[in-house]
Amino acid sequence: MFLHDTDKAQAVLFFGKEGISKELLYPELEALLEGFVPLEEWSNTTQKAAYIEFNHQFVVTAAVFFSMAFDAKGAVDSGWNLPLLDMARTTAKGPDLGAGPIRIACASQCPIAYFKDWLWDPDMDPEGPQFKQIKRSLKRNRLGVHFRSTRTSDDAVGGFSAQETQRLEAHLSQHFSKQYEKALREQMSQLLEGQRLRIASMVSDRDQAVQTMRTDFERRIEELQKQLEESEIARADLDKRNQELRLTIDGQVQKIEGLREYYEHKLRRLQGSDSETLETVRARLESEMQNRMRSATGELNELLKMKEVELQYRVEHEEQLQQEIFRLRREHQESLVSSGDQFLENLSRKGVNFVTYQPGAGHITIPYSEMSLFLENPPAFTAAYCGVSEKQYLAWLRHYQAPVCNALDDNGEMCCANLHRVTSPTDFVVGESDVCDKHQRTQRPGKLKAI
Ligand SMILES: [Zn+2]
Repeated sequence: MFLHDTDKAQAVLFFGKEGISKELLYPELEALLEGFVPLEEWSNTTQKAAYIEFNHQFVVTAAVFFSMAFDAKGAVDSGWNLPLLDMARTTAKGPDLGAGPIRIACASQCPIAYFKDWLWDPDMDPEGPQFKQIKRSLKRNRLGVHFRSTRTSDDAVGGFSAQETQRLEAHLSQHFSKQYEKALREQMSQLLEGQRLRIASMVSDRDQAVQTMRTDFERRIEELQKQLEESEIARADLDKRNQELRLTIDGQVQKIEGLREYYEHKLRRLQGSDSETLETVRARLESEMQNRMRSATGELNELLKMKEVELQYRVEHEEQLQQEIFRLRREHQESLVSSGDQFLENLSRKGVNFVTYQPGAGHITIPYSEMSLFLENPPAFTAAYCGVSEKQYLAWLRHYQAPVCNALDDNGEMCCANLHRVTSPTDFVVGESDVCDKHQRTQRPGKLKAI
């Protein structure tokens, strides 16, 4: 590329792991952005780069440090749209690389905040790695940039005369631009052909879609029209029926009104006579009920009287029977005694002794003369034998058979605590020998269980 020595060259340098990995002139970058020359080796990566401007002495005057993302095909990400040239017009100053401080745009000095994320910060030392690499790259000049002197043509350059140099330049320029142009044209024509085909197929697709849609719509409209007609017919039918029904209803209403009037009239006329009838019926029912109640009560009273008489008779009869029983029992006893007397007398006379065992008294020999006394009441006989009252003897006997406390506790239940058995009726004290120690202390008269 040939430039005048007053011009500034524009280039983009990509930074790889081992220094500069790719160098492009600005027009080449534009071709890359247009997608003509995808970089497959960079598909799905983000690369760090610097856009630089340098003068005819190959000294940097402006730099923009940016990054660039590539898609799966190696084309620049469609969202990338940094205005590099504008950003290089920034007023921010960077290090002096030989032509005064450079204009610089990077992440920490971004003139347009919106693009900050697409920028990065280099080492600001002029001898730092990035600036050093940039300087080395410009010195090698792989970009093939040549500056043409604007001074008088008779100055010789590298041994060639000015005229020769110019001719050589023109020749080379023509040669390179022809090659570049050819490649570009081929790519363009391929692209255009592809696009044409795509457009043609899209147009045909669209035509087809439009046709389908139109058919659909026409069919739909037809259907809707049919539906509309049908619903209009239905509505007319309904209107007609409605009209008929309304007439019928009107007729019914009139009929009902007439009936109501008739019945109201009848009701009014009936009300007067009906109320009299009701009173009569009520009075009749009441007297009837009273009569019935009276007769029922009379019957019941008579029945009651009869029952009372019957009861009285039964009581009397029972008394008679009791007396009968008593008399018979005495007779029976007397006959027993008289018959027994003879028998016993016989036994006694033949030397037989009558001995009985009674608790508290042991063996008692009963003389024949006292036999009837004994037979009449053995406990009383034994009590007398022991020299205690019958009541005392019976209380002792009870204790003797079950020596437990007789006292009642607060719940009215018998204490039943075990007691020392008193073996002799004479030693037995009621209310003392037949209660436990606890109840002897708390015992109060009247709380003893009746014996
Ligand atoms: Zn007790």
